[in-house]
Amino acid sequence: MLVAVAVLVAVGCLTLGPPGPVADGRRAVLAAVGALGAPWLGTVHRAQVEAVANVLLFVPVGALANLALPRRGPVLPVFLGAGTSMLVELAQTAVPGRVPDLADVAANTVGTVLGVALTAVLRVLSRRAAVRRRAVRPRRPGARAALVAVALVLAVATGCSSAGRVPGPAGSAGAAPTTRGGGHDLTAEDGWLPDGEVLSPFDEAPALTRLDSTLRTAVQDASRAASADGITLSVTSGWRSAAYQQALFDDAVGEYSSAEAARTWVLGPEESAHVRGAAVDVGPTDAMYWLSWHGSDYGLCQTYANEVWHYELTVERGGECPPPAASPAGR
Ligand SMILES: [Zn+2]
Repeated sequence: MLVAVAVLVAVGCLTLGPPGPVADGRRAVLAAVGALGAPWLGTVHRAQVEAVANVLLFVPVGALANLALPRRGPVLPVFLGAGTSMLVELAQTAVPGRVPDLADVAANTVGTVLGVALTAVLRVLSRRAAVRRRAVRPRRPGARAALVAVALVLAVATGCSSAGRVPGPAGSAGAAPTTRGGGHDLTAEDGWLPDGEVLSPFDEAPALTRLDSTLRTAVQDASRAASADGITLSVTSGWRSAAYQQALFDDAVGEYSSAEAARTWVLGPEESAHVRGAAVDVGPTDAMYWLSWHGSDYGLCQTYANEVWHYELTVERGGECPPPAASPAGR
């Protein structure tokens, strides 16, 4: 039972605790996987790693539920695992930085089924051994079921109370920076913005003031015209220091397991137009679409097909934008 409680508390912490350590762990796993260098590993992506982790996480849950519950078949333990997963997803709606996902419940349930199957096989094997010894001990299924219920309640309560204390990325916005670049904490002086924060094109932050002045003026002019159409155009990222760009690139290498794969989304400081002050990322979605339609009036063009938010001053005002490159890597 102690093991059961420990497993359920661990599940609660992993799924409802701060997302930071989990993200760090995932990066470490992906980096380790990337370091192995097998060709097929290059295609391992974050979603696949998460799905596997979500399956593995619930194997012990299924195994323990099956061992601890009275033996009435696999339905009840599987139902318990799936129910726990749904409770976790429900609780995640209250945790900043956590996104509930039905795919997680599916993966968790698969893990539970695996755990139940594993223990069923072990049980058959041990029963054969027991029959051989003719020494089957009496069982008290009622007491065991009560202990499982207590363990589940404890685990969920622990998870929920820790969730309440977690300062998520949104909660820490404007406070200490969370990203590190070149050994120092990134600040507004690097063009860094806290997660979820955006700038008006008219703000005086370094992310904007260190942009190429022609680009900055073009974005401001576009923003005025967008306002007239009822669209608020925000800048989600502008000029970035080399340290900031390097930190973004390092994160992407961790996430996509190789520098080559990372370049599909993020370039290093030597190549990035953001570091030269020659690119802005805009939002929200309606502003991206507005700019895709009207940007060329201001010389602003989307330069990468896979980044609908990324604009550079590519043509004269009123010119025709060239077709975007497939990705930053394909330029
Ligand atoms: Zn960009």
